[in-house]
Amino acid sequence: MGGMMNLSWEALPLELRTTFRIAHGASDRRDNVLVCLDEGLGEAAAVAYHGETQAGIMAYLSGVGDIWGDDPYLLEDVLTRLPAGSAAARAGIDIALHDAWGKRLGQPLYRLLGLNPARIPLTSFTIAMAEPEVMAEQAREAGLPIYKIKVGGAQDVAAVAAIRAVTAARLRVDANAGWSREQAAALIPRLADYGLELVEQPLPVGDIEGLRWLKAQGFGLPIFADESIKTAWDVAAHAGAVDGVVIKLMKTGGIREALRAIHTAHALGIQVMLSCMIESSVGVTAAAHLAPLCEFVDLDGPLLVRNDPFVGLRYDGARLLLPDAPGIGVLAAIQ
Ligand code: MG
Repeated sequence: MGGMMNLSWEALPLELRTTFRIAHGASDRRDNVLVCLDEGLGEAAAVAYHGETQAGIMAYLSGVGDIWGDDPYLLEDVLTRLPAGSAAARAGIDIALHDAWGKRLGQPLYRLLGLNPARIPLTSFTIAMAEPEVMAEQAREAGLPIYKIKVGGAQDVAAVAAIRAVTAARLRVDANAGWSREQAAALIPRLADYGLELVEQPLPVGDIEGLRWLKAQGFGLPIFADESIKTAWDVAAHAGAVDGVVIKLMKTGGIREALRAIHTAHALGIQVMLSCMIESSVGVTAAAHLAPLCEFVDLDGPLLVRNDPFVGLRYDGARLLLPDAPGIGVLAAIQ
């Protein structure tokens, strides 16, 4: 690549198909940032829960400076020179750098990483919190094989029961840190009766001992940490306390640290769910290139967005079809 690279960015406003309600709150739009590094594309998701804003991401990007060096193929060296701060902005740069890398070498990212797209697990589809009958209707209409049900409200058992009544699909629940230890211990065995696969982030962030205690109860439902996990260091800190972790590029600060987090988890006997925030096809397709390494996949972001300006990852029901174009393989959509 050689010489200085040109970093630029622009607002990437995303409108959701329906209001997205989870235990943290509700929203119907996201103001993400599109990151461009020469021909490379990346995305930074402004997730308020992680303290990220569009303005904060752009402020970070404007302070990056010339860190690219003479040989940007030295991805690890270049990324080490990134200033501390916004994980989403760092992810945007990391993704754009990987995209430029692949484009210049003429290969899709998964091939550069030596990964087999035939090994990508089926993705779940998210059902946000609503009245139980509305949630059940969504599941019935979608007719997909795996759902992630958002819980952490007053009607959790009713919602799962209503959905189970209309589908034999694999069901996962995500409490988004919405339960106390007592609530979790009371609800998990009741929810397990509906044949769930796993429960995500039952307890507030930071309560590692609570997770360890819940896991020791042996409710027969694997426990995954999401909001508690950002980097490989966090994965290591949860050894023995969880059955799985949820890895997202916007938490790790990009692909390099996501790879380290995935391998750290596996070394500790922890399973990995690869997931995304509400992102366009840029961020989600970048993540999908790592999916062959993961046991579980939750990459439905673009399906929730009404105005995705890009095409990349495609869906055949719950099956992910990775693009073969060089880099992350994302193109501008023909509007
Ligand atoms: Mg989650």
